Amino acid sequence: MSEESIIVVGGGIAGLTSAALLAKEGYPVTLVEAHNQLGGCAGTFQRGSYTFDVGATQVAGLEKGGIHHRLFNYLDIALPSAQVLDPGCSVLLGDGTKPINLWHDPLRWEKERQEQFPGSESFWSLCSLIHKSNWAFVDRDPILPVGNFWDLSQLIRAIRPSNLLTGVFSKLTIADLLKITGCHTDRRLQRFLDLQLKLYSQESASRTAALYGATVLQMAQAPRGLWHLHGSMQILSDLLKNSFLRDGGTLLIGHRVTKIVKEKNANAFSIDVIDRKKHFISLNASDIVFSLPPQSLLDLIPIEGGLSSTYRARINNLPKPSGALVFYGALCRSDLPVNCPSHIQIFDDNFGSLFISISIEHDKRAPVGMATLIASIFVDVDDWSNLDSQSYKSKKNIIAKQIIAIINNHLGLRENSWTHQELSTPRSFERWTGRPGGIVGGLGQHPSQFGPFGLSSRTSLKGLWLCGDSIYPGEGTAGVSQSSMMVVRQLMERKGRSLNIPVFT
Ligand SMILES: Cc1cc2nc3c(=O)[nH]c(=O)nc-3n(C[C@H](O)[C@H](O)[C@H](O)COP(=O)(O)OP(=O)(O)OC[C@H]3O[C@@H](n4cnc5c(N)ncnc54)[C@H](O)[C@@H]3O)c2cc1C
Repeated sequence: MSEESIIVVGGGIAGLTSAALLAKEGYPVTLVEAHNQLGGCAGTFQRGSYTFDVGATQVAGLEKGGIHHRLFNYLDIALPSAQVLDPGCSVLLGDGTKPINLWHDPLRWEKERQEQFPGSESFWSLCSLIHKSNWAFVDRDPILPVGNFWDLSQLIRAIRPSNLLTGVFSKLTIADLLKITGCHTDRRLQRFLDLQLKLYSQESASRTAALYGATVLQMAQAPRGLWHLHGSMQILSDLLKNSFLRDGGTLLIGHRVTKIVKEKNANAFSIDVIDRKKHFISLNASDIVFSLPPQSLLDLIPIEGGLSSTYRARINNLPKPSGALVFYGALCRSDLPVNCPSHIQIFDDNFGSLFISISIEHDKRAPVGMATLIASIFVDVDDWSNLDSQSYKSKKNIIAKQIIAIINNHLGLRENSWTHQELSTPRSFERWTGRPGGIVGGLGQHPSQFGPFGLSSRTSLKGLWLCGDSIYPGEGTAGVSQSSMMVVRQLMERKGRSLNIPVFT
């Protein structure tokens, strides 16, 4: 082990991005991934001639200046081929009213929301103000939450007068913004916001931090945007992997980290790894970038293995994230309604938000004339954890039928429209991604968990760093990439170097 050797645990987008950046900077890096495939929640799987995205289906941050665009330029790799989604999503409130289309053109979106939610412009103007102020801040690479003087210096450097103004909203929720602007009596708007925010923040309008919600509510519009990747989501991981290997990184795929220990007064970590043939390997590193949910630390680091008891308690007391049920189906494209949007969100009395992603003709997910359809809902992982195998199977069958019925009803499909159907549960996500209990999406973006009040990428153990969807700025491939850039900057600063990635090149 050289003094600078680094191990990255987990090869989802967060781990891959961190590993690629560190390798590009010349550090000896080993990326350890448990699955036989990279990508985690943004990976794919194959069923016959269909390719299904496991979880993530839309990508933010591919526009010029967006985080993927920025990092890919810096890593000197080509951007994946993608098309901007217009509308980014079509939202059905389940009350028989017209779908709300999140158009890419800001003026068209303004017209749409004026028609859909008359009298709500003061709310949207306030969101727009916060959104612009947030981006001016984020583009200057703040470190949040602050853990030392260097972090503080980076935070201060990023602050602009507009941030001081919008900072007064830091403890407020989106529901508070509705009240401030007098829009809180609009029930349709409330339901729309609840649905959209659940998707991006795991919380309703009354529990989503105003500073976070105002930004994600405008993610589909230029100059930002939501993108559909050609091929599949896997392309994002493949490109990052190529960059990592090109720059000399070592990839241990199909290798699960089972234990991380740092003896008292030791400079290095000792990491136990097991491969698929049950061979044990022991690795050493000066630093570990840990991209799994922080809850996994409790199992991987023994009580005497280094984490302070206060830190263990902090992790133990984190709010419990949701799990997801995801339906993967395939069907004849001609059975879909004419001009069917590729992304649809439906309110359902039973499930709340049902988010549907349909492949686009020639995007290589399905043969010509066919389409894949992925539909996800949020669930409590505890509802799935303690079932015996019979109850689990029967619950899965019942829920799959209910989801299919909702989709059939909304899209006018028949039972025999489908050529493939399967459902994944939190148990499947636990198996696929190693996330404890199948939790997904990081911590909900409640004001008590957002930004300055969230979990730091620094831990109680020097040299152990966190990134991924529980770290600022939160979930999504764009969010976790931002967290990776942040953690690499912190780690490099600790080693006496700096990393500056230009926003526009
Ligand atoms: C249903 C669903 C829909 C989503 N939709 C979108 C969307 O449309 N757009 C979007 O941007 N985001 C979406 N997301 C969120 C997005 O997918 C995640 O926020 C992001 O991919 C998380 O990346 P990560 O690297 O932090 O974690 P993960 O993707 O969970 O990666 C962790 C990796 O660590 C590996 N691992 C686990 N345990 C070990 C171990 N012990 N040793 C070694 N390796 C280990 C896993 O195999 C995995 O590859 C969605 C998520 C879900 C679940």
